[in-house]
Amino acid sequence: MQKRLLLTPGPTMVPPEVAAAEAQPIIHHRAPEFTPVMKRVQEGLRYLFQTKNPVVILASSGTGAMECALTGVCSPGDKVITVEGGKFGERWGKIAKTFGLNPVNVPIEWGSAITPEKVKQLLDENPDAKAVCITHCETSTGVLTDVKGIAAIVSKSNALLLVDAVSSLGAEELRTDEWGVDMVITGSQKAIMLPPGLAFLSVSERAQKRAAESKCASFYFKLSSYLKNLEKDTTPYTPAVSLIMALDKALEMIRKETVEKIWERHARLSSAIQAGCRAIGLEIFSQSPSHVVTPIRVPEGIDGEKIPKILRDELGVTIAGGQDQLKGKVIRIATLGYATEFDATTGICALEIAMNKLGYKFQVGAGIQAALKELMK
Ligand code: PMP
Repeated sequence: MQKRLLLTPGPTMVPPEVAAAEAQPIIHHRAPEFTPVMKRVQEGLRYLFQTKNPVVILASSGTGAMECALTGVCSPGDKVITVEGGKFGERWGKIAKTFGLNPVNVPIEWGSAITPEKVKQLLDENPDAKAVCITHCETSTGVLTDVKGIAAIVSKSNALLLVDAVSSLGAEELRTDEWGVDMVITGSQKAIMLPPGLAFLSVSERAQKRAAESKCASFYFKLSSYLKNLEKDTTPYTPAVSLIMALDKALEMIRKETVEKIWERHARLSSAIQAGCRAIGLEIFSQSPSHVVTPIRVPEGIDGEKIPKILRDELGVTIAGGQDQLKGKVIRIATLGYATEFDATTGICALEIAMNKLGYKFQVGAGIQAALKELMK
């Protein structure tokens, strides 16, 4: 018998009450009963995003919202700055290229973050840039970027700031309006505690104006038509009704806990994971680690791909391996979304068992003790 635990940076575990809400009988999306749900969900999303502006809901994964955002506010040939410090930062550049934009790709060493000063320099060198595209938590490296500092610079320029917060919204502090972020993008399968299938993006007033002028080719993901329909609490095409019913429940839970408490919980749990790993001699990979996911360097002489395999197949605990250039070199553990201290301690416990099976030498129990100490602070 195995009890399964998901400690990945998405998809994440879904609370039973959210799963139950998803299982309700379908209501027709054009029927009057659906309007109050859409109104409530919009209010909840604005709270989660910390914005007064509209939050578009798409039936897609997070990448769909990245595409909708960029094509929604740009026209072919527009210069856009894409910051690429990992797999997801690189995605901005790929989307821009696909739609005939003119991306200035800024490579950042994997494991480190771009600074506001560097963004200022880039904008000085490219005053005609129409957008700056960054990643709040680069899930492939675990690195957190200073969105607040960057927004303070970009908001004074003609460029819009597009923030991929697919893995971080609801886990890390992000104050969309107060910080002056134009578009924040996220997906349902991370901190929002839903199954995969919904994506969201908030649209500032500046971005709404640009959406009215955009000439990028798009049909299903045409931002301006989502914004127009949202004024009537609806979507241009059939929404994922069941997921929106589940979202209604998840947002109720989020409001009850409050975003501040949720950010605090993520910080506590990821600090416990980090302390547990360090106590058994493992090194944290990233230079500015997020509370979303902890990337851990695989020690010399250990097969990095075997760690997640043993955890999943023998212990029922799913963590993530490394992606692209980090394949086999890091493992990633997340206590994202619906997670408590018991998930964090179980994760460290399972990691100790797996590392022991692989012949790694350490003091058994040191990790769990350090994690507990961190949680009891
Ligand atoms: N950006 C980030 C930071 C992510 O973590 C992910 C998903 N891991 C994506 C974009 C892409 O999202 P999706 O797989 O939902 O399209």
